[in-house]
Amino acid sequence: MKRQIATMPGQLTLRLDPPAIPPWKELALWAWVDHGWQHAAACQTSLDDTWYPEPDSGDSAHAAKLACAVCPVRRSCLAYALADDEQHGIWGGATAYERERMACDLADGTQVDTVLARPGVLGVAA
Ligand code: SF4
Repeated sequence: MKRQIATMPGQLTLRLDPPAIPPWKELALWAWVDHGWQHAAACQTSLDDTWYPEPDSGDSAHAAKLACAVCPVRRSCLAYALADDEQHGIWGGATAYERERMACDLADGTQVDTVLARPGVLGVAA
């Protein structure tokens, strides 16, 4: 089960279990994952840790999101990460925290195509 962690002023840490994505929406996510999408990934030849920045490393996350914004397989990548419950790294232009928010929205009734079409950090919709 995924964990959502929020630290508040005064060192109060909340650990919450976000609601699970309904099974039929997981299937809908998998339907968005194109076969062989990894072969067209913009990050395919990257040998550095750009897509796995340290927490609170805004510059590194920004660099990955910049590349993701123009990646031809962004939606497949994001759908894969949501369906497979990827816990780490930048996938489809979204951080792990952003994907948790998306999973909550999916559980709350937001449609899969709406979540996948959200503009990234640069305001670019794939
Ligand atoms: S969207 Fe980003 S993380 Fe996903 S394949 Fe493209 S460059 Fe890599």
